[in-house]
Amino acid sequence: MDQAPEVAVIGAGIVGLSTAYALAERGVTARVYERGLPGHGQSGGQSRIFRHAHDDPRMVELTRQGRAVWDEWSDRLGAELISGDGVVALGSPVPRRLRILQEADGIPVRSVDSAELHARMPLLADYRGPAMLDEGGGAIRTRVAVERLADALGDSVVTDEVISLHPTDRGTVEVLSAVGREEYATAVVCAGLGTARLARSVGLSLPVQPAAHVRLTFQVEGEPPERVACLQDSSGEFGEVGVYAVPYPGNSRYAVGLSQTVEVREDGSFADPAALAELSDRAHAYVTRALPGLDPEPVEYLHCWVTSLPWSEDGMAVWEAGRIFFAAGHNLFKQAPRLGRALAAAAVGEELEEDLRPAAALGQPR
Ligand SMILES: Cc1cc2nc3c(=O)[nH]c(=O)nc-3n(C[C@H](O)[C@H](O)[C@H](O)COP(=O)(O)OP(=O)(O)OC[C@H]3O[C@@H](n4cnc5c(N)ncnc54)[C@H](O)[C@@H]3O)c2cc1C
Repeated sequence: MDQAPEVAVIGAGIVGLSTAYALAERGVTARVYERGLPGHGQSGGQSRIFRHAHDDPRMVELTRQGRAVWDEWSDRLGAELISGDGVVALGSPVPRRLRILQEADGIPVRSVDSAELHARMPLLADYRGPAMLDEGGGAIRTRVAVERLADALGDSVVTDEVISLHPTDRGTVEVLSAVGREEYATAVVCAGLGTARLARSVGLSLPVQPAAHVRLTFQVEGEPPERVACLQDSSGEFGEVGVYAVPYPGNSRYAVGLSQTVEVREDGSFADPAALAELSDRAHAYVTRALPGLDPEPVEYLHCWVTSLPWSEDGMAVWEAGRIFFAAGHNLFKQAPRLGRALAAAAVGEELEEDLRPAAALGQPR
């Protein structure tokens, strides 16, 4: 009989796939349980922003390390996983964020004038306020990343839903799934919206705040620009103070969303059913004012769940119960390879990194 894998990973979003891949780098076998398709949850859809800018210097450092892991995996998986076109940020937070980034070691970031801004972000209307360019940031090629990681993991990814898991008195973890009952040395739960529920079964109450989010995609007018940066607009110049935008591969489409989310009840129902459509309308109106390089009629909508921690929209943390680790947070796509390596290290018995413990409140502005 085949020997059972050593580690169970619950969830084949970008975090679970990265964790299993990082375990494989160490020669450790894993089984990845996914109840749907890999990358269909919060990791769904094309493109995410990789940016170094955060309000917590510890997170800036983690992201700097994360970029190196993305590059390593890009080489190994034989695909561009992050575009080389950078991220531009606009608005009053720029000077503070620039200072934090410049204090970190080796992040290529600088302020830019309106001429350079136009060259980097030709879809944007005229803007003369504070702006910076994170040259080491870019658009994450999400679909390629998910596909390549899932391919590399092959049969380790199984279609099965984990119903419950618990530590045993033998110091192992028992996983009960739709079609199985297995014992592992360790389990790592990266189940997105499903993580808090599985944690509750072992007595942990994770402060995860589920919410709903919408992102709209627009067609670029005319020939796609050769280079186009991602955008983080906190300026208010175009009527909104929290907007992000990211190109698709090939630059012919550009996705735009407000950072704002809509709170939902614990069971996923909406207190205000119109709120998500209103967010959509605001993103649409923003495009008509700020992005004249786009056809203002959306060609795609991405409605999705997000799971934030209370201390920051970039917060992330890992909880432990015996040999089970639970990872939670928001804006985790960019962090996934670095987080995956940290989870793999913890899964094989190394101390969990201090900054990832919930008490560290990683991501909290400092
Ligand atoms: C529109 C949008 C824009 C975003 N923009 C950015 C951005 O610019 N930059 C950034 O870094 N991040 C961004 N994020 C956030 C980022 O995409 C997510 O934080 C990240 O994808 C979460 O990955 P995950 O693997 O933790 O969760 P998920 O992708 O949700 O994966 C969890 C998986 O677990 C599976 N699962 C759950 N329960 C079970 C169970 N019991 N048994 C088996 N399988 C189970 C689910 O089916 C799912 O596939 C954005 C998110 C959205 C939605």
